[in-house]
Amino acid sequence: MYKFRNHLTVVPAQALPRVLVDIFGRLRSRHCSTVLVLSVLNCSPVPDHAATTFEVYAISFANMGDRPLSAFVSEGDSTETTQVHCMMWLLKGSNGRSVLVDAGFQPDVPSATGSATKEYIRPDQAMLSFGIRPEEIDDIIITHMHWDHVDGVDLFPNAEVWVQKAEFEYYVGDAWQTGGTHRGIESRDVLKLVRLNTEGRLTLVDGDDQPIMDGITVYTGPRHTYASQYVGVSSAEGTVVIASDNVPTYANLETGSPPTTTFDPNADLRAYDRMKQIASSPDLIIPGHDGAVLTKYPKIAEGVVRVAPSPILETPTGLSSVP
Ligand SMILES: [Zn+2]
Ligand SMILES: [Zn+2]
Repeated sequence: MYKFRNHLTVVPAQALPRVLVDIFGRLRSRHCSTVLVLSVLNCSPVPDHAATTFEVYAISFANMGDRPLSAFVSEGDSTETTQVHCMMWLLKGSNGRSVLVDAGFQPDVPSATGSATKEYIRPDQAMLSFGIRPEEIDDIIITHMHWDHVDGVDLFPNAEVWVQKAEFEYYVGDAWQTGGTHRGIESRDVLKLVRLNTEGRLTLVDGDDQPIMDGITVYTGPRHTYASQYVGVSSAEGTVVIASDNVPTYANLETGSPPTTTFDPNADLRAYDRMKQIASSPDLIIPGHDGAVLTKYPKIAEGVVRVAPSPILETPTGLSSVP
């Protein structure tokens, strides 16, 4: 079944499946002349017509060491390990915008206590490696409200922050009521987003397939958290999908296994199929915690790789080595 999305796509009638021609033919006779104006979900990578393209970087700001695959992959082998990194992603736009996908965590967040973390660099300091000061980050897209993705949000004083409305509302409210669940959520991070909202710096994205700025569309469907989202980014390589923890490791995709942390494993598996349609190639689906990302793409500096464009054509302006 076709669902509908918010923006319009103009489709020649002869390019449509028969059933749609039948359904919309009647509408055409009443409202249109030579084309059908449809609003169709799930059919194409959305950012392909974007004027803005982004360079896409994956940044490891903490190395959590080898962990059992079964911690991230349902039905994963408990004897197999994978190197786990905490990641964030920088998008450098051809329009000059600097966008972060997720904000990492700060060293004093309670959930980080006791984690064997190596090679930690505070998320704002990681930006200095690109010659970007924290106040120069224009936007932060929060994929979900787990502490390791949102706790650093207040390190970037001028950023407009984007989060799913349902995610925000659940973790502000019902998650803390009887019957709710808030595993992986820090109360201090909820308060940070509430404060950003009162300051007019938080945008609540309402649902699936939302083009939040030129070249960037966010999608819902997987249920790693209550309403986690993933990000489609227009790049010179085509559409990159930053899956974040909706796909924690490559093994999740390769074995068709949902994450161990989820509200709905079947929804996750449906999202995997959709991500493969949205991304211009399977290699452009970027998992949330897999250290293999750091060897799969060209290394820019310690802990930093460029996903797109790739291979490296030139050193980005202002990039120095990671401290
Ligand atoms: Zn995570
Ligand atoms: Zn998570």
